[in-house]
Order: sequence, then structure tokens, then C-alpha cells
Amino acid sequence: MDYFKYRNNTLYCEGIPVKKIVKKYNTPLFIYSQKTILEHFSKLKNAFSQIKPLICYSVKANSNLSILKLLVKAGAGLDIVSGGELYRAKKVKCNPKKIVYASVGKTEGEIKEAIVQGIFMFNVESINELKRIDKIAKKLGKKVKVSLRLNPDVESKTHKYITTGKKETKFGIDKKSAREVLLGADKYKNLIISGIHLHIGSQIIESSPFVSALSKTKKFLKQLPKIKNLEFLNIGGGLGIIYGNEKPQTAKEFARNILPLLKNIGLKVILEPGRFIMGNAGILVTKVLYNKESYNKRFIVVDAAMNDFIRPSLYSAYHKIISINKKKSLKKNKAADIVGPVCESGDFLGKGRKISVSEDDYLAVFGAGAYGTSMSSNYNSRCRGPEVLVKGKRSYKIKERESYQDLIKKEIII
Ligand code: PLP
Repeated sequence: MDYFKYRNNTLYCEGIPVKKIVKKYNTPLFIYSQKTILEHFSKLKNAFSQIKPLICYSVKANSNLSILKLLVKAGAGLDIVSGGELYRAKKVKCNPKKIVYASVGKTEGEIKEAIVQGIFMFNVESINELKRIDKIAKKLGKKVKVSLRLNPDVESKTHKYITTGKKETKFGIDKKSAREVLLGADKYKNLIISGIHLHIGSQIIESSPFVSALSKTKKFLKQLPKIKNLEFLNIGGGLGIIYGNEKPQTAKEFARNILPLLKNIGLKVILEPGRFIMGNAGILVTKVLYNKESYNKRFIVVDAAMNDFIRPSLYSAYHKIISINKKKSLKKNKAADIVGPVCESGDFLGKGRKISVSEDDYLAVFGAGAYGTSMSSNYNSRCRGPEVLVKGKRSYKIKERESYQDLIKKEIII
């Protein structure tokens, strides 16, 4: 579901024609729909209303400060994975008691800062990390809440780079070690081991991997005596969305399938959605630079590239690409690869697309709201474009286009 629709053959974001926004800000350009973001957040909140979970939006999906502020104002907490994301959380005045912190490689400095800020809890990914947090907490004279990120060893049926709950991945703690920690929790004098955390992957379109991970976790907990401080079960993020012809579970279906497993577990639930909230709430708009034929192969060269949006290159991800003017995309043509200016054969936004465009047309790449700008780079010394948030009939610039000066501002000529 999203609010990017054709009206009179022109693509609109909510109440504004996309071409009007393009005229003002130029391309490449990311446009987000506020209504879509808030509706996705509400869908999840409503689906789980019986158990009132803490919903911590996963900052990595899209970390623009205006997006974070919007979600924090709507009642979300934040799921962070670095000191940089903690800094962003602070900038938008997120209540630290609603911040959870994962990552397999938290540095001493990051841990210290998060304790000083008084975050809600760390999602701990190894025994040595646990020891380190304990030591730092002692130095700071604090008692710190932690959840153990359990690696349940389940198949999440998604791309292998975003599978995180299998035993061969770097994430989480194996069951045996987690059991030992829970049984010996008193050993960690400055920690309160108060939760179990799961995050088995991203873009998971069925409920069965979640059900399987939760069932394994329940079984794991059942085999333990009552653990004194255990209060929370964080079930992570991972909900899949529609990029092409996927039929992912809805929030309601997801809740219907997993609520029975959560109900009598006696733990408060935390969710960490990212993609579900932001994925379909954003498009990347790009200008057609050239139509090109070479050895009978057709290319559409556009002004956005893998540095702006890496999902197609990195995960072979499919993203719907249409002209912002409907008539132009109606005439079926020989299939073309839609490619950017970056010097890599892996630089493409779409492959084999039957789309008819002329030079100077604009294309919209759908599903670009999550893991778009947050994974972007300046590769090939390319300046990244602006980000715009649409609220009804108004658009707001929420990030400036980068300049050449921005590209070199931290560099030193010796
Ligand atoms: N929680 C953790 C620990 C993650 O690593 C991620 C993403 O990888 C998420 C939540 C968000 O996942 P998604 O965007 O699939 O909801």
C-alpha cells in the first residue's frame, strides 16, 4: 500500500504531481509519502493492539532525521546499530527508554555513550560483548538492561545476505551459550539480563520462519528454570513488502499467526520493523539521459546509479520502474536494461524492462524508501540528491543535494 498513484496519466505522491517536485528539486531525487509511513506504522500497531508492544523503528532502513522525528512523534521507539544512529536518535529527542541497540560489533566508545544516554537495553550478540558491557557498566557505576540475541538457526527464505537467523551467520548467540548465560546471570553484576532478542532476516514474506523461530525460542525457554529478571521478548523486524508480484503477509495476518505464540509467554513484546514502514513509502526519481543500442541490446541510461540505490546491484532486487507520465510507459518496446552512469557492469536499476521512453523523460523507481538513501554512497564522486517528504499537497525538503565541496570536505591534500 502506498500513496504514489497515477491521476490523469501523471504520477502523484499524495496530492502533488511528482513532476512538480522534480521541477523544484531536480534529479536524482527521493520522495517520501508521510501518509504511507504513518499508515504502515499504525497497521502494525493496530494488528498487535492486544499486547501493546513497544515498536522500535529500525533506523537503518531510512535514517533521515525528519523521518525519525515523524515516527518518534507517532509513538515509536528506535532500534539502533551504531553510535551514529544513537546520535540521530538523540537529535530527534527520542526517549532513551525507547531505544534498543543491536550490532555484532559495538565498540567500547559506543557502549559507553549508550549507557551514559540511558538507553532502554542492548541486544547482545556474543558472550564477550556481554562481558564488555558489564565491565563498562561497572566503571560507570550503572546497572544495564540487556537482551540476549538468540540465533535460533532457522531458514528465513529470503536473500542470503539478509538472512540473519541461521547458525552460519555472524548474528546472535547459540542456544547452548545463551542457556549458560541465563543460568549464570548473577555473574554479570552490572547487567540485568532481561530479555531475549530475535531477528532472523529481512524481506520475509511468509509467517512460517517467524513461527518457527518463536516456537524454538519457546521450547528453549521452557527447558530453563524460571529466570529471575526475564521480562521482554524482542521479535525483531523482517516483515516483507511488495516490490513486484510478492504476496507478503499483511500486518494482521502476521499478528494472527504469531500472537498465539506470544500470548502466554509472560513476556512483554518489542518489535523492530524497518522495511515494512518505509519500503513502499518512497520512490527514487531519475531522468533518462540516453537511449542506447549496442550489439542489438537496448539500454536506458539514467542519472541515478548504484551509489544512490544499491539494492538492485547488491541483492539483484526487483523494483518496479515506471515513467512519471503514464502514456510514455504504455507502449511496449524491446526490453531494456535501465542503467546508471557508474563505471561498473553491476550498475543497474532494472533489467529487461519493456518500457518506452524518450530522452529527458523521468522514471520512478518504486519501493525505494527503505535501504535506499541509508545504503547510498559517493562512489564515482557522485553527489547524492535531495530527499523530499510530501504531506498532502505540500512537499518539504528534508535533505539538501550534496555539492562537490561536500565530497571533499574531510579530505586533506598533503
Ligand atoms: N532489527 C535488526 C536487529 C536488524 O538487523 C534489522 C535489519 O536488518 C531490523 C530490525 C529491521 O529489519 P526490516 O527492515 O526487515 O524490518
